[in-house]
Amino acid sequence: MIRREVRALYIGRFQPYHKGHHAVIREIASDVDEVIICIGSAQLSHELDNPFTAGERYLMISKSLRSDGILNFYIVPVLDVNWNAVWVSHVESLIPPVDIVYTNNPLIERLFRERGYKVKAPLMFNRKYFSGREVRRRMMTGENWQELVPDSVIEVITEIDGVNRIRDLMRSDRE
Ligand code: ATP
Ligand code: MG
Repeated sequence: MIRREVRALYIGRFQPYHKGHHAVIREIASDVDEVIICIGSAQLSHELDNPFTAGERYLMISKSLRSDGILNFYIVPVLDVNWNAVWVSHVESLIPPVDIVYTNNPLIERLFRERGYKVKAPLMFNRKYFSGREVRRRMMTGENWQELVPDSVIEVITEIDGVNRIRDLMRSDRE
């Protein structure tokens, strides 16, 4: 008999992808057959809270996972619909069918549970440091952001001149 594959969904904005995300996805990838990773707010970039494009975030995630020998993942960028009641259907229209959703975000948990999904909360890895907000803050102040992200993410951010992009976004046109 053919065993049906178990697929899990993990959703984030990944602005940028950091070691907390990486630790969670590594665990999920070892528990299930395939992990579907959705890049949320895919349309946003070049903003202080959302500096990187979907393509750049795609590169950060795929390089980091591949360089750790993790290959059982798909990445799907998802645009915002700004309509919570239809958001799960919107995501469903873009991804393969999944059996379980992993998230620590209470709204995402609520929306998927209401649609009958099994939702699990992954353990948080040193959330005080490993957060997108903290990485962006350190990029702005010139502190050590590199220690918070996988080496592949340092490479991508260097390649796209990401830190200078954030510094430029901080400048205003007022004196
Ligand atoms: P931001 O500070 O920009 O909101 P974030 O670090 O919360 O970034 P997101 O892309 O918003 O990252 O979140 C994606 C998922 O990763 C969420 O479910 C979030 O709770 C989870 N997550 C974030 N940081 C960690 C961490 N250190 N350990 C485990 N999970 C994390
Ligand atoms: Mg968050």
